[in-house]
Amino acid sequence: MKAVCWYGVHDVRVESVPDPEILNPRDAIIKISTSAICGSDLHLYDGYIPSMKKGDILGHEFMGEVVEVGTGVTNLQKGDRVVVPFTIACGNCFFCERQMWSLCDNSNPNAAMAEALYGQSASGLYGYSHLYGGYAGGQAQYVRVPFADVGPIKVPDNLSDEQALFLSDIFPTGYMAAENCQIQPGDTVAVWGCGPVGQFAIQSAYLLGAERVIAIDRYPDRLQMAKEQSKAEVINYEGQDVVELLKQATGGRGPDACIDAVGLEAHGTSVGATMDKLKQQVRLATDRPHVLRQAIQACRKGGTVSLPGVYGGFLDKVPFGAAFAKGLTFKMGQTHVHKYLRPLLNRIQEGEIDPSFVITHRVGIDDVPHAYDIFKHKEDHCIKVILKPND
Ligand code: NAD
Ligand code: ZN
Repeated sequence: MKAVCWYGVHDVRVESVPDPEILNPRDAIIKISTSAICGSDLHLYDGYIPSMKKGDILGHEFMGEVVEVGTGVTNLQKGDRVVVPFTIACGNCFFCERQMWSLCDNSNPNAAMAEALYGQSASGLYGYSHLYGGYAGGQAQYVRVPFADVGPIKVPDNLSDEQALFLSDIFPTGYMAAENCQIQPGDTVAVWGCGPVGQFAIQSAYLLGAERVIAIDRYPDRLQMAKEQSKAEVINYEGQDVVELLKQATGGRGPDACIDAVGLEAHGTSVGATMDKLKQQVRLATDRPHVLRQAIQACRKGGTVSLPGVYGGFLDKVPFGAAFAKGLTFKMGQTHVHKYLRPLLNRIQEGEIDPSFVITHRVGIDDVPHAYDIFKHKEDHCIKVILKPND
């Protein structure tokens, strides 16, 4: 089959690789109808995630048709059309039983590697390094789905692939980010990053009752989407003091919750920081504003900072004293996708949201390397790329 493989920083290639096979009774093989490129894939593309090997198959947002099931899978049959959560979970460990699916104890065969780094391992992920289990991803024609008896959800015929695909990751991710804000009627939520995850965080904040959402980015088409699709107020952060603008917009108090839907991209840490004043260090310590720093500074006392954006390694110059003084709550982590599949599928079916609004690019598998480049540089008005690997 054809698959999109990682070869190094900014080097992904389409290759012929062996078809996947059933390895365990709880496996299924899916023929992929639609797959996507995620902002998280850019962290691999940029080389921020350790333990990638040359030839690893990328991709964790996919759906398709069941073509084979192991003897232990009784809830799925050949021919079923399913969407698959990007987190791999066993369904019966301490964490799965508590709905913390992305922290599953049994789905990462390389748990020791993760434990050495983080003290404990998280769940396995498709196409996301050996630290997360070394599973082959779904930017391919076929994929092996472990624990297929608990992960995939059947998609009703009346929904298109484009409407259902993002249940695999970015819709639940934006939704969990908003849910983590414990939004009360009348609340104002600030969202940094108007990429696909930010767009779903904005929509979800409104679904969960926010009165106002203020969206922050620097790409006009992404800000435009936030404004048109969700009626968010927008701030172009370039040349602006975002913290000050957010305070002004909220009568001096600050947003009730702040969502960082950016993560690693805005890192910068303190490299090159020469400013002497603490205030400047906190707000402007790098050539790029550090989102987490701004979120802590802007958030109102007693508010919540929710981080769907992916972080790795160490963070520098995080104003933790401010977070403590203001009594902030932090919520973060990989999304517990399994928990949200059914309720969010229902919301799509009831017409409350049509997730396909984020799609700007549709490509064949051979064009995926070019699509990574466009998506990385936000060229050609690119917001979300989907691919049809079998067309
Ligand atoms: P994306 O790269 O398309 O979007 C990121 C956006 O952030 C861009 O539009 C960029 O211009 C904007 N941005 C950068 N610096 C900024 C700043 N200082 N202020 C405001 N905006 C800024 O990526 P995406 O697909 O939307 O993903 C966003 C993040 O969510 C990534 O870190 C991704 O890894 C993460 N993610 C997490 C999960 C999870 O389970 N927690 C799942 C999917 C994606
Ligand atoms: Zn993703």
